[in-house]
Amino acid sequence: MLDNLGNLTRTHSCGALRASDIGKQVTLMGWVAKRRDFGDLTFVDLRDRDGLTQVVFNATDAAAAHSKAKDLRGEYVIAVTGEVVTRDENTRNPKIATGDVEVHARELLVLNDARTPPFQLDASGDALASEDLRLKYRYLDLRRPHLQEIMRLRHRVTAEIRNYMTEQGFTEIETPILIKSTPEGARDYIVPSRVQPGKFFALPQSPQLFKQLCMIAGFDKYFQIAHCFRDEDLRADRQPEFTQLDVEMSFATLEQIYTLIEGMFARVFKLINVNLPLPFPRLTFAEVMSRFGSDKPDLRIKGMELKDLSNAIAGTEFAPFVSAMSSGGQVKGLAVPNGAGLSRKVLDDLQEFAKRYGATALAWIKLGDEVSSSLLKALGPDVVSRMAEVAGAAKGDAVLLVSGKPKVVAASLGALRNDIAKREKLIPEGVYSPLWVTEFPMFEFHEEDGRYYSMHHPFTSPVDEDLELLHRAVDGGETELLSQIRTKAYDPVINGVEMASGSIRIHRRDVQRLVFKALGMTTEEARQRFGFFLDALEYGTPPHGGIAPGIDRLMMVLAGTDNMRDVIAYPKTASAADLMIDAPGEVDPKQLDELHLRIVE
Ligand code: ASP
Repeated sequence: MLDNLGNLTRTHSCGALRASDIGKQVTLMGWVAKRRDFGDLTFVDLRDRDGLTQVVFNATDAAAAHSKAKDLRGEYVIAVTGEVVTRDENTRNPKIATGDVEVHARELLVLNDARTPPFQLDASGDALASEDLRLKYRYLDLRRPHLQEIMRLRHRVTAEIRNYMTEQGFTEIETPILIKSTPEGARDYIVPSRVQPGKFFALPQSPQLFKQLCMIAGFDKYFQIAHCFRDEDLRADRQPEFTQLDVEMSFATLEQIYTLIEGMFARVFKLINVNLPLPFPRLTFAEVMSRFGSDKPDLRIKGMELKDLSNAIAGTEFAPFVSAMSSGGQVKGLAVPNGAGLSRKVLDDLQEFAKRYGATALAWIKLGDEVSSSLLKALGPDVVSRMAEVAGAAKGDAVLLVSGKPKVVAASLGALRNDIAKREKLIPEGVYSPLWVTEFPMFEFHEEDGRYYSMHHPFTSPVDEDLELLHRAVDGGETELLSQIRTKAYDPVINGVEMASGSIRIHRRDVQRLVFKALGMTTEEARQRFGFFLDALEYGTPPHGGIAPGIDRLMMVLAGTDNMRDVIAYPKTASAADLMIDAPGEVDPKQLDELHLRIVE
């Protein structure tokens, strides 16, 4: 028989009681985390969102409650009234905040029973049940204190962001979810229209155009904690729906945006007692790619910069190097501190690793008691030593070398830099190293279909000096200039994680047209997709710019997890499914009819 709650109210949470509460009569409510039965004494760990309290049922003092407590099982929901008592010295539990006291129960209400959970809620680490099982019963997994803590931190983060943005004069404005395609480089999720047969909405990949329209509308400073949707192949740090702090600001200079966003990050990191070093250093895209082989370098890794070895190999005739150099490629090396001891097996693994990033081979030099190298035969000891020296390696170190197209050299050595630093434990704990990466290229060329794509999105402004190049490329037919154009785009990066993307936007219609043209859109196509926006640009658009820090990624860094699903209450799996509600799912044929849709097998 279950009891009714009636008018009984809680006096404390399960995490609240301390030695100073001894002697008080209290009422606690929560879930049975654990029950231990010692005959005349039954102990229950009572859990709620705030913590655990030990409750003792004693057969002599409270016979009725004690006998009722015999039937309690894990996850039963109960209310307990009793007295706060000090625990014996030797039974105190310093691991929990309430560990100095216990509640001697007088009365017990069993408010609800529970089936045996499909997995153990108090397990951790390797003993945790499989993630799929936990996702299916997400509401149980979320009862775990670890996830409760992350969700509460998430709330404090968004609350702090809202306060900060409000203090800075920003207005939160909601933008629609049923819209037209926004080009952010992923596939859209689309929603069929019932009332307009054959027509579809797209879910926003970002509120990009709406926030720019807010600037045209004169709101001046906009923000939104916005939900976005991108149908793309998932990785550990991506979800098909995610949250970002979307920001846009009129008459904004780069400097103002950097200061605003650094201030936001500083405030949020204070919540985990970290003082971020301000201002963030700024490095251009060209510089980070050349030095670290990545547009999101992890600056916690000291040194380990990629070094150009073209001078060191000048005059040699080693075919792979000669062919790389003569076709606009590079030969670069990465010094690995204390790497002289890397085993053959590890080098083979690294070779395979580099190949995944497009490298045809990974050469190596080891500066042990003797110099050994996969290139010794082909290049001779002098050239090998010269390369090691230019790469910045000293005795005891190793050098890893890749030759080929700059993109491949950067991608493979950049990934090796991160991988080796992780393997060799060269990344200091508890350190946060932010930077701004600036001046991203405007376009990137995709070999597969032989055309240019926006590197950020097509509303990103070129740097003033490069506008001329855009004119020449689009109107003068010098298409190859497109790859040289730099933008006023910027990404803040912390510990190798891209925390946001943003840019100063194009506010002139003539420039926006050039960009659409450069992307291969005809005037009609541009009109059809973005006519409303091109029109709006004609009604007095102020210069403006913005940015969008990803809240989920930010939370991963703050919570110190590699798994984005840990920081989202109801996340999706790598195959974009929700295992709890079993979505996506089939729909009724009648719904399809109403939507004028037919499934084609
Ligand atoms: N709309 C961009 C994004 O979601 C961010 C921005 O440019 O503000 O990545």
